[in-house]
Amino acid sequence: MWFFSSPQIVFGEGALSYLAQIQGKRAVIITDEQMQKLGFVDLVKEQLAQANVETRVFDQVEPEPCLDTVRRGALMLCDYEPDWIIGLGGGSPMDAAKAMWALYERPDLPPDGINPLEYLGLGKKAKLVTVSTTSGTGSEVTWFTVLSDLNEKRKLGLGSRETLATIAIVDPMFAMKMPPRLTADTGLDALTHAIEGYAGTWHNDFADAVCLKAIELIFRFLPLAYRNGDDAEAREKMHNAAALAGLGFGNSMAALAHAMGHSLGAVFHVPHGRAVSLFLPYTMEFNANAGNYRYADIAKFIGLDGLGEQQLTWQLIAAVRDLAIELDSKTDLMSLGIARDDLNKSMEHLLVNAENDNQIVPSSRQPDRAELRKLFEYAYEGKHIDF
Ligand SMILES: [Zn+2]
Repeated sequence: MWFFSSPQIVFGEGALSYLAQIQGKRAVIITDEQMQKLGFVDLVKEQLAQANVETRVFDQVEPEPCLDTVRRGALMLCDYEPDWIIGLGGGSPMDAAKAMWALYERPDLPPDGINPLEYLGLGKKAKLVTVSTTSGTGSEVTWFTVLSDLNEKRKLGLGSRETLATIAIVDPMFAMKMPPRLTADTGLDALTHAIEGYAGTWHNDFADAVCLKAIELIFRFLPLAYRNGDDAEAREKMHNAAALAGLGFGNSMAALAHAMGHSLGAVFHVPHGRAVSLFLPYTMEFNANAGNYRYADIAKFIGLDGLGEQQLTWQLIAAVRDLAIELDSKTDLMSLGIARDDLNKSMEHLLVNAENDNQIVPSSRQPDRAELRKLFEYAYEGKHIDF
């Protein structure tokens, strides 16, 4: 038995105005300071005012939100008792909003009680709306929540199908303001979701469909959105692609590049999209060396040439590398400015983090510890994976 979970998705130009139609008394916008500065919080407030919904704002979500922030937000929710929670921003505010929602409805839960095996009974006090302002994480349509455990220097991958937003608003207006570097990092994150979602062992017909469409859109429109942020069509297509990729990996999981990227991010504070997409071609090679040729389907779908599955697979991996280079992204860990000594010192920590990351589970090839170490080392030097 399988599920395909999705919020109700409101997308395209003017999608935000949906908020003017909601029924309720009070809403809390969970966001970060940047969203205030960009004026995005005011835009949301205006719509809620039209719906006669009173609003408060929690704008203290930091990048890679920590458990403490989630607890503080949940306390505010318990105090104000909203019937709507609006997660506004990139992945961090939306993830934080999901976790705060869960703790608001279930104050008895420890944060790590938000897991797929626990029945939470959410939705009795409030509904969750996610409003994505970047085109990458897909958090608006997934039930995953990634939080930081600062004491343990690790990322906590939490989530329950119940923390899926009730409504996701995918309005391309928000994406227009992303600077080029953020456009590239988040867009490559979406590409990683879609490729891992398609090639991992939990792939399924429903997720495959949205992953393929997302990959096609990203190869076509990400370079355009990167080069010219004012290209409204490219921005809209990328905003949709990120949500499609989110639906894909939200229902088939990501894989090894995410496990390694989470691990690296927790130790060296590399932004999520930059970290996971850096590892993507290395892990694709690692999988392809063991005969995972699902990549060939993707290559065919986006119109790459090649004779047979093997050649098509290597064409796709080359295309992923070329795309990263076209977006001026770093393709090895050394270029990220990580010193060799620091890598060596942190290696044990990196390995343990990656091995314990739940995204490693659907990887089509499970690395043993020696292979995982070599993957990090090869990615450090930019060497092709030949094992
Ligand atoms: Zn990701």
